[in-house]
Amino acid sequence: MVQEYKLHIGGESKDSATGETFDDINPATLENLATIQVAGSVDVDRAVEAAEEGFRAWGEVPVPRRAEVLFRAARILQERKEDLARFMTEEMGKVLPETRGDVQEAIDIAIYAAGEGRRMFGETTTSELKDKFCMTVLRPIGVVGMITPWNFPMAIPGWKIMPALIAGNSIVFKPASDTPLLAIKLVEILLEAGLPPGVVNIVTGPGGSTGKAIVQHPRIKAISFTGSLETGKWIMEECAKTMKRVSLELGGKNPVIIMDDADLELALEGVLWGAFGTTGQRCTATSRLILHEKIKDEFTARLLAKTKLLRIGNGLLPETDIGPVINKAQLEKIERYVRIGIEEGATLLLGGKTIDSGLPGYFFEPTVFTDVKPDMKIAQEEIFGPVLSIITVSGLEEAIEVANNTRYGLSSAIYTESVGKAFRAVNKIEAGITYVNAPTIGAEVHLPFGGVKGTGNGFREAGTEAVKEFTEVKAVYIDYSGRLQRAQIDTE
Ligand code: NAP
Repeated sequence: MVQEYKLHIGGESKDSATGETFDDINPATLENLATIQVAGSVDVDRAVEAAEEGFRAWGEVPVPRRAEVLFRAARILQERKEDLARFMTEEMGKVLPETRGDVQEAIDIAIYAAGEGRRMFGETTTSELKDKFCMTVLRPIGVVGMITPWNFPMAIPGWKIMPALIAGNSIVFKPASDTPLLAIKLVEILLEAGLPPGVVNIVTGPGGSTGKAIVQHPRIKAISFTGSLETGKWIMEECAKTMKRVSLELGGKNPVIIMDDADLELALEGVLWGAFGTTGQRCTATSRLILHEKIKDEFTARLLAKTKLLRIGNGLLPETDIGPVINKAQLEKIERYVRIGIEEGATLLLGGKTIDSGLPGYFFEPTVFTDVKPDMKIAQEEIFGPVLSIITVSGLEEAIEVANNTRYGLSSAIYTESVGKAFRAVNKIEAGITYVNAPTIGAEVHLPFGGVKGTGNGFREAGTEAVKEFTEVKAVYIDYSGRLQRAQIDTE
C-alpha cells in the first residue's frame, strides 16, 4: 500500500484544497514510494496565515531557547540517520555513503545554527554626539518562502530552515517534487523536537503552480531559492513586483585545473569524485577538466581507465559507485547534450548513452569528451549529469581565462604543487569557492556557500553568512543627554 502524504500547515497534517496528488518515484526501480498532495494557492494562503501566527509566537521565544529546538532536532536526525539515508537513496538515487553525508550536513547545520543562538551579535560603536549610545541588532524578516531542489533533499532545506529559525522567522516551504518525502520527514522531526505550530509549514506541489503562488504571495516577505538559473531569474523578476528580498543559489559549470606539476594520482581521484559523484548532479560537480598540455595524454588515459571501473546501479548496494539520474526529463537532457557535443566537434571518448543496469530506472554511463573548445555549449551550459568536458591549455593564465569563460561562478579547483600558482588561481578565478588540491565538491557548513555571476545574487548560505540571509539589521540610537541633539549640525 502506497501511503498518501498531506500538507503540514499550522502544525497539523491537512488535506489540500486541490484534491490533486502526484507520485514520488524511486529513480532506480521506478517504484512509487508515496502519494503526495498538491497544494494550490488557497493552501498557500492558509500556510501563510499559519506562518504569520507562528512568527508572532516564535518571535517571543528567547534565541537560546529556539536553539534548544534545533539541538533536539539534530539529535533526532542523528538517531534516525541510517533510516533517513536509506530512504533518501530510494527517493533520490544517490549512493548510501552520499545520502548519509546529506543527512549529516542537515545535522551539522542544525548544530551550527543552534550555536548562533548564543551569538547573533550586533555591533556597538561610538556616536558623534555626547551622551549617546549606538548599536545594531539583528531582527527576523517575517514569513520566508523557501523553494529547494532535489539533489540534496535534506542538506539544502537544512541550510535554509535552521538559520532562518534561529533568527526568529517562520517558513512556508515547497520542496522539489522529486524528493518531497524527505522534506516532510525533516519538518516532522522539527515539530517532534518542539517547534511550535505554524513556524514551519510545508506545501508540496509543482513549481509552476505551488512554487509560483509562494513567490507571488504579497504577505511573504522573502524568498530563499536554490535551483536552476532560469527559474531563479524568473523568481527575481517576480520578487521585484512585491519588493521581496530574494536570495538565489543557482547553477554551476565548475572547472578543475590540473597543472603539469600536479600530483596526478591525487588529481585523478579528485576528478572522478567531483565529476561522477552524485551522478554529476551537484551544483558544484566538476564539469570542465582543464588540463595542461604536457600532462594531457597521460592524465586522460589514466582517467579513462579508472572511469571504466565505476559501477553503476542501485545506490543501496555497497558495490555501486554511481546511482541513477533523477528522472526521465533529466536523462533526456543529458542525451541531448551528448548529441550537441558530437555535433559541435568534440570527441566522445567514453560513455554517452544510457546503460542497462538490470533495473528499469534512469541510468547513464559516465561520459568523457575531449577536444572541447571553451565556447562550445557542452563547456558553457550546465548539463547536471555525469558528463565531463576536457579542455587543453598551455599554461596557468590560459587555464584561468578558460575557467572564467562561463556565465556561472560557483565552485572551482586547481591541482598544483606550486604555492604561487595556487594563490594566483585563488585570486583570479571568478567563483564563490576555490579548492586547492581537492575536488570542486565538499563544502563544509561553517564556511559560506554560494557563487558569483549567474550562480547567485550575492547572498551566501551557511557559515558566518548563514544568519544574514534571514535577518534585517536595525540601527539603534539611545540618547541619554536629556536634550535635542542634532547629528551633523550640533558639532560644537
Ligand atoms: P529547478 O527546476 O529550478 O527547480 C528547483 C525548485 O524550484 C523545485 O522545487 C521546483 O519545483 C521549483 N520551481 C520550478 N519552477 C518554479 C517556478 N516557476 N516558481 C517557483 N518554483 C519553481 O531546478 P532543479 O532542476 O530542480 O535543480 C537543479 C538546479 O539546481 C541546477 O541548476 C543546480 O545547479 C541547482 N542547484 C544549486 C545549488 C546551489 O546552492 N547553488 C545547489 C543545488 C542545486 P518542482 O520540483 O516541482 O519542479
